[in-house]
Amino acid sequence: GGETTVSTAERYVDGLFPQDAQWTYVREQLAANDMPDISVEPGYGRLLTLLVHASGVQDALEIGALGGYSGICLARGLKPGGSLVSLELKQEFADVARRNMEAAGFGEVVDYRIGDAKQSLAQLAEEGRKFDFFFIDADKGGYPEYLEWAIKLARPGAVIAADNTLLRGKTIDSTRNGPSVQAIRSFNERIANDERLIGAMLPAYDGLALAVVK
Ligand code: SAM
Repeated sequence: GGETTVSTAERYVDGLFPQDAQWTYVREQLAANDMPDISVEPGYGRLLTLLVHASGVQDALEIGALGGYSGICLARGLKPGGSLVSLELKQEFADVARRNMEAAGFGEVVDYRIGDAKQSLAQLAEEGRKFDFFFIDADKGGYPEYLEWAIKLARPGAVIAADNTLLRGKTIDSTRNGPSVQAIRSFNERIANDERLIGAMLPAYDGLALAVVK
């Protein structure tokens, strides 16, 4: 998620597919609850569903729930009996996300962990949890640390996806050097160079990083 400019090509591609009623519903709920309208786009959500399905995911982990739209997209691709752990800083956002997941039929699938994701990740490690898929879409300053945690909590072959790696152009603007920009640059360099990963970077939407943990 995050503010993105939808290009004409993206609009065309989205128009090919049936409309996603859950996308509309979640956006209505976001507006009704004074929450930011920064869920992933439906096309991006479809890609998440496809990736989760293609890699036969049993257990997925999401960092940044907002109103649950990306959670719905991840849950759609899970194996029967699969699970989603979703980390969200704000209790009131997680409450909305849970209701939206329930409305989409995934109430039994999701486990929300409230609070700073770094603490929840340490807790999951302590519990000995392992995951087959990670979707990173929370505070940008945390991305390098989230990547380390994902590698730590990964089963071999797990997939990592992360949104907003271009920060609406800030990543490639040498005059922008704030903490979030620097964190994202460092994250992107690790996706490209970390020997524990097979990484790829798509300059689509607001930048989509993908990696497989070897
Ligand atoms: N993935 C969601 C979707 O597409 O439907 C959108 C997530 S939104 C871009 C980012 C979310 O991360 C917000 O709900 C925010 O409250 C949450 N967040 C920010 N910092 C966080 C942190 N340190 N730990 C956990 N969640 C955090």
